[in-house]
Amino acid sequence: MEFASLIADLVRKYQKPGPRYTSYPSALHFDESVAIRDLLHHTENTRDPYSLYFHIPFCERLCWFCGCHTIITRSPAKADYYLDLLERELDLFLDHMQQGRETIQMHIGGGTPNFLSVEQIQRLADIIHHRFAFSEVSENSVELAPVRLSEPQVYALRDLGMNRASFGVQDCNPEVQEAVNRIQSVDTNRQAMAWLRQAGFKSVNIDLMYGLPKQSVASFGATIDHALDLNPDRIALFGYAHVPWMKPAQKELEKRGLPDGQERLEIFLFALQKLMDAGYRYIGMDHFAKPEDELCRAQDRGELYRNFQGYSTRAGHEILAFGISSISQSSSGFRQNVKTLREYETRLNAGQLPIDRGVCLTDEDHMRASIIQQVMCNLKLDGPHFRQSYGDRFTTAFSQALPQLIPMQEDGLLDISIDTQSLAVSDLGRFFIRNIAMTFDAYLRPQEKPAYSKTV
Ligand code: SF4
Repeated sequence: MEFASLIADLVRKYQKPGPRYTSYPSALHFDESVAIRDLLHHTENTRDPYSLYFHIPFCERLCWFCGCHTIITRSPAKADYYLDLLERELDLFLDHMQQGRETIQMHIGGGTPNFLSVEQIQRLADIIHHRFAFSEVSENSVELAPVRLSEPQVYALRDLGMNRASFGVQDCNPEVQEAVNRIQSVDTNRQAMAWLRQAGFKSVNIDLMYGLPKQSVASFGATIDHALDLNPDRIALFGYAHVPWMKPAQKELEKRGLPDGQERLEIFLFALQKLMDAGYRYIGMDHFAKPEDELCRAQDRGELYRNFQGYSTRAGHEILAFGISSISQSSSGFRQNVKTLREYETRLNAGQLPIDRGVCLTDEDHMRASIIQQVMCNLKLDGPHFRQSYGDRFTTAFSQALPQLIPMQEDGLLDISIDTQSLAVSDLGRFFIRNIAMTFDAYLRPQEKPAYSKTV
């Protein structure tokens, strides 16, 4: 059977809501009742480097499909005030930081980080560099909105230490752009890419989105051609996640006519084929990269990881995250900040860290997180290695997953070795790794309303 029609049949069979596994357990299981002191617990006397995240929530205009934590405004003064608060949060956190730990990775996300003016970016640089020492090989990435980007901003971000960037293209058809309230010309995208390349950004990722109103195979084909013409190092091809009970603005898209499941699938398969024909490799979980890109090389070495920013070549470092809604990660668990500016300012004005909720990891969580990480990133599970680390607990988890894994093996998604309790995900199985990972998720329970986006 032809590859595309084989995938189409399997998508129909396996498509169901599932976590994206940027954390395990997923953020839906974070709890307000966990004591903040427990969430701040960390390993003593470690010299492990930090990974940093800063959330800049502002956008000028709301894209109807948006699933992020955003504040829509045109006021630069709001960003000034937010930087004041961010600085206060960092100062309050200083007591919980350990001396001598350098930073190996940083991500600035949003919202739109380049909502900040050049002067505000320079102030953010001062705030960060005054408090953290960076490794010379630190990977520092920033999310950008091309419509708001200027050449001086690109150089200010480079001076802040940014060496990687990503920006959303989503769809370049004018009718689709009108329907999703996001107008962005192909020339704007070309200009953004040219500035980033001239400024020496090492890797540039672009995001595309299928499943939007007014899209067709032909129109999205033109978007893919434009994306390939931009020649990014990585491409993320996201399926639009329709969760109007969490993001009410998405109801606007229902009025404009969302494609049905069949149309969505045809667009996805067409895009997939075009990207693979152009030489991009499917890493997993919506991400494509050039074979020479370090994500592909890390996957080949079995050293690819996944965290809140997506795929990463930097393993399990403690993530310190600042700003509204940001999520920090340590060896003991996850903690998430409050999600509104009002709560953020109230907590900081009272001299309190703005932590809202979190989860402390059990030994069982650690093991399952590690299994899911291996499956999602390195496409295999080495049973003897896991048994050595986790003993009978691993044997039980594997046995529990087996009844769901065997039918997947029959469909060609993976190879199982029952003797060694190992598995290897096939090329076909890369498209269904969320489904494979879900067999090891102890938190999944039947839900009244789907809380997650679809797996494929
Ligand atoms: S630019 Fe990004 S974060 Fe801002 S509204 Fe659009 S999708 Fe959301």
